[in-house]
Amino acid sequence: MRKNWPKLFPRKVRVTADVSYDIFFVDKIDEHESLGFCDSDKKQILILLGMSDRETLKTIVHEVLHAIEFENDIPLPHSVVYALDEAIERVLRLNKWA
Ligand SMILES: [Zn+2]
Repeated sequence: MRKNWPKLFPRKVRVTADVSYDIFFVDKIDEHESLGFCDSDKKQILILLGMSDRETLKTIVHEVLHAIEFENDIPLPHSVVYALDEAIERVLRLNKWA
């Protein structure tokens, strides 16, 4: 993971006007051996350390999509979340936004 990632991705993401999620980069995530985890109760996103830049960005996008899903009450099939994380990561990368 690039050293400047914490700058690109501040440790807090605003999901709605009233709700922010704290982002933590962690060594281990117990939930289903996941690469990331979104906790809508604690308003926290966990991202596994040690992934490639691309995988890290995709995982952040994936977990933010879950936060959007929870906070806006937009149920998304998990297959759609995976398809979107891939497509959004591509747009961010191709436009050098990340
Ligand atoms: Zn997911």
